[in-house]
Amino acid sequence: MPELPEVETVCRGLRPVVTGQVIARVAVRRRDLRHPFPAGLKRHLESRRMMSITRRAKYILIHLDNGYVLVIHLGMSGRLVLYPASYKPKTHDHFILYLADGRQIVLNDARRFGLVDLVAVDDLDSHGLFSHLGPEPLSRNFSGAVLGRALAGRTAAIKQAIMDQRLVVGVGNIYASEALFQAGIDPQIPAGMLRPAQCAALAGSIKKVLQQAIKAGGSTLRDHRQATGEQGYFQHHFMVYDRAGAPCPRCSSGGCEQARIVRIIQGGRASFYCPACQK
Ligand SMILES: [Zn+2]
Repeated sequence: MPELPEVETVCRGLRPVVTGQVIARVAVRRRDLRHPFPAGLKRHLESRRMMSITRRAKYILIHLDNGYVLVIHLGMSGRLVLYPASYKPKTHDHFILYLADGRQIVLNDARRFGLVDLVAVDDLDSHGLFSHLGPEPLSRNFSGAVLGRALAGRTAAIKQAIMDQRLVVGVGNIYASEALFQAGIDPQIPAGMLRPAQCAALAGSIKKVLQQAIKAGGSTLRDHRQATGEQGYFQHHFMVYDRAGAPCPRCSSGGCEQARIVRIIQGGRASFYCPACQK
C-alpha cells in the first residue's frame, strides 16, 4: 500500500511539471472506485488550471483556479502517473486528466480501493475525510511534547497508537516498526508509559524515517511507482521491517552478533523489532 512517503513522492514528482497547466478534458472510465466518482466532476475540472499540488495525510490535493480541490487517494494499489500524449489507456486506467499540452495524468487502480473527490477549498478542514486527522508528522505541529500529550493515559501498544491517524497522520505499518527501532522503543509497551525523552526520540525518529523514505523516492512494496513511472528503492534500506531472523543492525554494530530481529503480530499486523535493544 502506498504510505506517506510514496504519496509525497508522487506529489513532488507531479508538482513541477503540472502546476499551472490547464486540464483540457477529463475521462471517467467507470462509475466508481471505493465510492462513486462525484457528480459534476468533469464540469468542475475541464478548462480549469491546476494552481498547486499539496498533500494531507495520504491524500493528494490538486488545487484548481475555481476554488475547488481535486482529492485523490491511491488506496491499496493506485498509481498516479504522468504520460506523454501518445499514451493509450490500459486496463484499470479509471480516471484520466488530459492536459492542454497533450500530456495525461492517469489514475490506475486495479483493486479500486482508491478515491476521487471534489471539495471546495474552504470546506477542506471540516470535510469528513480530513476533520478527524491529527498533525502532519513532518510539520512543526508534531513534536515530542505533542506526542506525549496525545499518548497520555493510552493503554494501547505504542506501535498501534502511532498508527492512529487521529494522533499523527501517515505513519503506516512499515514506518511504525522502523521509527520504533530507531528510537529504541519496544513496540508492545503501553503508549501512556512512554517517558518524555522517549516521546521526543520517537517523534524525531518518525520524522527521520519518513524523510529518509521520501529522499529515497518511496518504497515499492506491492506495485507503487513514482509519478514519473520510475520504481522507488527504499525497501533496501529497512532496518527491521520484513527482516525477521536477521542480525539486529544496532546490536551487531555494537559487537553483539546474537541479537536477531523478531516478527510479532499486533492488531493483525506484523511488527518487527529487536528484543535486545528496544525496551
Ligand atoms: Zn538490537
